[in-house]
Amino acid sequence: MSLSFRKKALLVALSVIFSIVFVVGCGRRAERDDELLIVVATIYPLYDLAREVGGDYIQATCLLPPGASPHIYHPTPQDIMVLEQAELVLCVGEGVDGWLTPMLSADEDAQMITMMELVELLPAVDYSWSFEEEGGEHDQDHQHGTCDPHVWMDPLNMKVMARYVAVELSKLDGEHIEDYRRTADDYIARLEGLDEEYERATAGFSRKSFVAFHSSLTYLAERYGWEQAAVIEVAPGVNPDPRYLAELIDFIKESDVACVLAEPQFNPQLAKTVSSESGVPLVTVDPIGDPNHPDRDTYIENMQANLEALKEVFGEKRD
Ligand SMILES: [Zn+2]
Repeated sequence: MSLSFRKKALLVALSVIFSIVFVVGCGRRAERDDELLIVVATIYPLYDLAREVGGDYIQATCLLPPGASPHIYHPTPQDIMVLEQAELVLCVGEGVDGWLTPMLSADEDAQMITMMELVELLPAVDYSWSFEEEGGEHDQDHQHGTCDPHVWMDPLNMKVMARYVAVELSKLDGEHIEDYRRTADDYIARLEGLDEEYERATAGFSRKSFVAFHSSLTYLAERYGWEQAAVIEVAPGVNPDPRYLAELIDFIKESDVACVLAEPQFNPQLAKTVSSESGVPLVTVDPIGDPNHPDRDTYIENMQANLEALKEVFGEKRD
């Protein structure tokens, strides 16, 4: 209750400031084009999806700034103002961008697409097992009742999401139904190409097991028959305890794990330590992408860059 009141008070204050800036800076507020649908996405892959399907008929904004992890993001007052303008909001769902929910007021009239509601979900694996069980065997228990949220990491899930976004955009903007259908068809064809690249590469892999930084590759591994054998951070953003790390390093030494993954949104030091202590290579895989990085500034290019990085360690063994 107090949160809601504080939010309202904040909104009023911000509206006043915004109006003053608008009046004072008259004519400089060119960002908003009334002809365009205002689409807000929580994370960069969804922003890119909106851009691809919405083409020239939408104005898309991404809430999560470059380099940030959605798991440990704290929304800003600016995010609330951006959301107030939105006509369509794209989010992943609980576990990635649950921070969006408290920002949506009860009378929010924007349409909302929650990607986790569109695709088949995989259970969240509890990686916090004890490595000391007999023979190194471990049960990858499923966390009770929770699902892994990283659905966008499977290119075929992105196809489903692209089609759905096109349908929702068409409902909001009936004039461009054919355009949205065409752009979605085109994007889906390119996602199928990405899927084929992954299938082709996987067919040549001699190893497919890895230790992720966190469980961001659950859907990717499931799609292509790879094994996300363990994770460094069971809860993203929370440092594992030293005993867990020691057990993880022993596990890697005794297993067929091909690499340890670092992610650009998290400090790589921990992954570097695990990699050097266990003697397996470190590979950086980016689950989000980055508008400031020319090789990672679209979902497809980012996923291609990830595949190229993994080919180095999954590929045929060289003598
Ligand atoms: Zn994640």
